[in-house]
Amino acid sequence: MIRPRKIFGQHWLKSEKALAEIVQAAKLKQDDRILEIGPGTGILTRRLLPLVESLVAVEIDRDLCENLAKGLGKRENFLLLQGDFLELDVPSLLEGFPAFQNPNKVVANIPYNITGPIIEKLLGTIANPNPKPYDAIVLLIQKEVADRVVAKPGSKACGALTVRVQYLAECELISIVPAKAFYPPPKVDSAVVRLIPRKIEPAADDPRKLDTLVKLGFGAKRKMLRNNLQSIVERDRLTELLEQLEINPQVRAEELSIGQWVALSNQLGVNG
Ligand code: SAH
Repeated sequence: MIRPRKIFGQHWLKSEKALAEIVQAAKLKQDDRILEIGPGTGILTRRLLPLVESLVAVEIDRDLCENLAKGLGKRENFLLLQGDFLELDVPSLLEGFPAFQNPNKVVANIPYNITGPIIEKLLGTIANPNPKPYDAIVLLIQKEVADRVVAKPGSKACGALTVRVQYLAECELISIVPAKAFYPPPKVDSAVVRLIPRKIEPAADDPRKLDTLVKLGFGAKRKMLRNNLQSIVERDRLTELLEQLEINPQVRAEELSIGQWVALSNQLGVNG
């Protein structure tokens, strides 16, 4: 077995059950083109390859890349890119490889230390959604982050990440994966999530405003929204707007639904 390196967040998945859950969650079709981030030793890659049209994998670790290239051999439907997924311009690297262009699904057990940035690169942001959204994104991530991604309004796990991700995608928790499913086991449990980019409706008239509202709204924990937003809208004015939207003026950020965030942002836009 290849020795895992801490700096790259390497934890090899060894559970058959978890591998099957990931593959099943991706609802693979023969014409799917997959993007995998962090193939590692290729355990998931090997499962995916026979089921899809093509798979492009991005791996930062040179030694692993060498091993993967040897281990998987030359296959028409597999392409390996060595580099940092967050830095690489994957579409332009794929220009010479028509069979791998425009992958429609992402399936990956990703390095946990860069979960947020990876999700942001895949979905885009409220202000700049990915103009070519994937059909589905299936990720194995740490459970605590998964809980935040799929949180319902009013629940404890609901935070700015929840709103940012759910504005762009339908999010579903598929299964919990215990730490012992990996070698070496990480300190925390993990979970498989599926994000399906959605048609953004209703959309914010001014997505940048919504972005700012979410950032400030969740600024101080457990404070009422109207206190957290004081710097951009007067308390009385916000109370009035919330009442117009039939939202309790004492609401906290974590209690608003995505639709209510959008409505509030749009109201503020119209009324100053
Ligand atoms: N998918 C494998 C490995 C998961 S560990 C498995 O399930 O066993 C995470 C993998 O992501 C490691 O192979 C690590 O080298 C790789 N990685 C870490 N940072 C990365 C980055 N910025 N870009 C691409 N790959 C990265």
